[in-house]
Amino acid sequence: AKSLGENSTQLFTQSLRVDANNLQLLQTEIDDAIKRGEIEPWFQPQIRLCDGRLHGVEVLARWRHPTRGLLTPDRFIPAAERAGLIIDMDHTIWRSAMAHAVLWQKEDLWRPCISLNAAPDTISDPYLIERFLLELQRSGLGVDQVNIEVLETTLINGADDMAAINIDSLSECGIGLELDDFGTGYASLSKLTQLPLNGIKLDRSLVAPLPDAAADSVIRAILALASELGLSVVAEGVEEDVQAQHLNDRGCAIAQGYGYAKPMPAAEFRTWLEKHAK
Ligand code: C2E
Ligand code: CA
Ligand code: CA
Repeated sequence: AKSLGENSTQLFTQSLRVDANNLQLLQTEIDDAIKRGEIEPWFQPQIRLCDGRLHGVEVLARWRHPTRGLLTPDRFIPAAERAGLIIDMDHTIWRSAMAHAVLWQKEDLWRPCISLNAAPDTISDPYLIERFLLELQRSGLGVDQVNIEVLETTLINGADDMAAINIDSLSECGIGLELDDFGTGYASLSKLTQLPLNGIKLDRSLVAPLPDAAADSVIRAILALASELGLSVVAEGVEEDVQAQHLNDRGCAIAQGYGYAKPMPAAEFRTWLEKHAK
């Protein structure tokens, strides 16, 4: 989520500036990292509030950098966007995540339902549908087992025709679409009716102040609207029992956050699954 472009050089400014000369260097470093498999999918459980059981997972990128250690997306996604490599990076993470998921399915641990993040450029890519459907088919997962999370900014700033066409095509193929970081942007309400969405993800900033009365009014209004429009709601950043309880009381079906589990690498999530999925 968050500001794309603006602080895109965070990671690299200490050592090198991203000017024309260094863009090449940055591209090479990220490109190598993708090829070497240093950028990998982590998995964060999404929990059904009614019974505490696993609903799905969100796939979140991490870079195991050989010298800088484990990097979170804010440290490298803006750079990948700047370097023109975000589309490849997204597809690499998606493929790897789907490969892990299908193994858990084969082991009969869980019938996976995974949510993939997509950068604005990835959504506007003319080859998105072709590429993604091929990856999905090769993975062996069904269309009903994958969701794509799109940011509001994808549809507002980058409101190009290609993004709109791709969104419609994904939906027609039966891929679930979720509006990410809902409640942080503008034009949210009109977008909710204009797009073929399956659900929204309530931003952490709306969840954190609960059970505060003002926050509660906002949550109730959003849940009523979502219900009216037939949209599922996943609350993000649920850290405290009191928040989960409150969201459940208000009719929110699914929660994700450190209160349940942090994002985990594949092996650790597999262990988590053995304990929690059945
Ligand atoms: P997001 O899609 O809103 O993802 C949720 C972020 O909230 C994740 O940060 C997650 O680790 C964090 N989080 C989850 N539960 C809690 C909680 O209880 N408390 C707090 N404080 N944080 C929580 P992360 O993994 O650092 O990812 C940041 C952003 O980077 C994501 O925000 C998403 O927009 C982007 N991103 C992550 N993976 C990918 C990817 O594969 N492709 C693209 N294009 N973007 C990605
Ligand atoms: Ca997301
Ligand atoms: Ca989010």
